[in-house]
Amino acid sequence: MEDLKLIADEVAVCTDCKLHQSRKKVVPGEGSSDAELVFIGEGPGFHENEQGRPFVGAAGRFLEELLASIDLKREDVFICNVIKCRPPGNRDPQVDETQACSKYLERQISAIDPKIIVTVGRFSLARYSPKSRISAIHGQTSVVNGRLIMPMYHPAAALHQPSLRRTIEADFALIPELIAHAEQTLSQEDDPPPDPEQLSLF
Ligand code: URA
Repeated sequence: MEDLKLIADEVAVCTDCKLHQSRKKVVPGEGSSDAELVFIGEGPGFHENEQGRPFVGAAGRFLEELLASIDLKREDVFICNVIKCRPPGNRDPQVDETQACSKYLERQISAIDPKIIVTVGRFSLARYSPKSRISAIHGQTSVVNGRLIMPMYHPAAALHQPSLRRTIEADFALIPELIAHAEQTLSQEDDPPPDPEQLSLF
């Protein structure tokens, strides 16, 4: 199994896309190296760029509340992002940036080998189902490459929208059941190759 620290060390000196020019700190991700559950967000924001840690701003506080609601702490899971460096002004990640960074995320996922991946927001959902809309498939689990994938709205989107907040809370409440049955669900699956057209999987 590859060491997460090794990947983080490589991220720390990465110059493979233009974001290295404006970043303050890289944000490789953090948490348990044998987590069953991995959360993949979009990319570092202001506070993450300052501290080098994922989800430490307002959205992060909401994520911690959500984790607590199902008796989990940050250390029990692994939290990372599609891109490891902050886009200037918090703009959306660009295709060349997500492409350059995807090798790190892939290696992190292989190293951790989680049963469940929660995609947080549309950019991480796009990795698994590029044509799907979060509004249509949030909270619905599919199997991709032998892992359960559960899309959810980004907590930042819910900060000022009470109805979305309730939606995220409801989706989160499904996670304990998902964990409890993950092994059984995965062993029953044929695990077809990922196919972006297979929207009915979700
Ligand atoms: N939003 C994200 O998607 N990731 C972070 O790390 C922080 C905010």
